Amino acid sequence: MVEENQIPIVLVIDDSELIHRLLETRLQGEHLVLHFTKSSDEGFKKAVEKNPDLILLDVEMEGMDGFGLLEKLKEDPRTRNIAVIFIAATSESKDRARGLDMGAIDFISKPFDTSELKARVRNALRTQHLMKMLEQKAQIDALTGIGNRRYFDQRLIQEISQAKRHPRPFSLVLCDLDRFKRLNDRFKHTFGDVVLERVAQILSGGRTSDIVCRWGGEEFGLILPSTNVQQGYEVAERLRIDIELAVWPGKQDLVVTASFGICDTEIFSEEVTPKAMLDMADSALYTAKQNGRNRVEVARKKKSIKIPLEKNNSPSK
Ligand code: GH3
Ligand code: MG
Ligand code: MG
Ligand code: MG
Repeated sequence: MVEENQIPIVLVIDDSELIHRLLETRLQGEHLVLHFTKSSDEGFKKAVEKNPDLILLDVEMEGMDGFGLLEKLKEDPRTRNIAVIFIAATSESKDRARGLDMGAIDFISKPFDTSELKARVRNALRTQHLMKMLEQKAQIDALTGIGNRRYFDQRLIQEISQAKRHPRPFSLVLCDLDRFKRLNDRFKHTFGDVVLERVAQILSGGRTSDIVCRWGGEEFGLILPSTNVQQGYEVAERLRIDIELAVWPGKQDLVVTASFGICDTEIFSEEVTPKAMLDMADSALYTAKQNGRNRVEVARKKKSIKIPLEKNNSPSK
């Protein structure tokens, strides 16, 4: 999720060091961090690495020019949403139109007028911030305040590609509240909502790197980075117990439970896909329901297996 009060990062891609120094001086005192590169190739790499809020991009450069790089940035999902302002010596309107059509948000002409430069940069950063907030809002579940399914799907794709690049396991956990329809019928929907909020809090109580989302109605999804299946099992088991032990205001006798299905990347020999992982976790969850609920099951090689643990034998409520 986007963090509030982060200092915006601005990447300058221009083949002239003089321009680097000029921009550094002119933008001094602005609330931003500047990075500089001198070529399109280097600039693209930096854009991926730093994920800047804004790129100030020189139109005329040796090798790939600004238009070529803009096209490349817009094609790559990792850099597509970075705002780009062109820096151009030319004030030709056809060049400007071409740049804006390609997705640049503004032009700044050389030589720079300091107050105009600052105003355009600030304006671009303000717009970028609002865009990020909107995007973030669209990824948050309104009831629980955690990520929604859209966010989850996106993070799962990212986590899989990371796990492929730097081989390391991660675990995917699906959690479904037990007999929740019955709970709603008994205590009303509004109390059901209170339970969902509290469960979201409990599930979010782990490591900060864990990704916890509301996957659907009374289903949650967790992505546990750098966590193998045994560790994932222990995490899920702890969460299962935390939910079971939760005390509900005004309802002393109530016990809410949840079932968990886990799958990790180790069970796939090569091609890990989000769908394959979700299917495996879902079938493990199904097994947990079949085996009496309020339990954790692990997916293994096409079929779900149970890791026997003494604690994991509470009956369903
Ligand atoms: P199981 O143990 O097999 O998962 O049984 P279940 O009753 O939990 O499963 P089922 O899929 O039959 O019912 C899910 C219930 O979750 C039905 C629906 O009313 C409730 N639910 C879904 N979204 C919300 C919500 O936002 N708020 C509340 N209060 N209830 C919800
Ligand atoms: Mg140049
Ligand atoms: Mg369900
Ligand atoms: Mg359920």
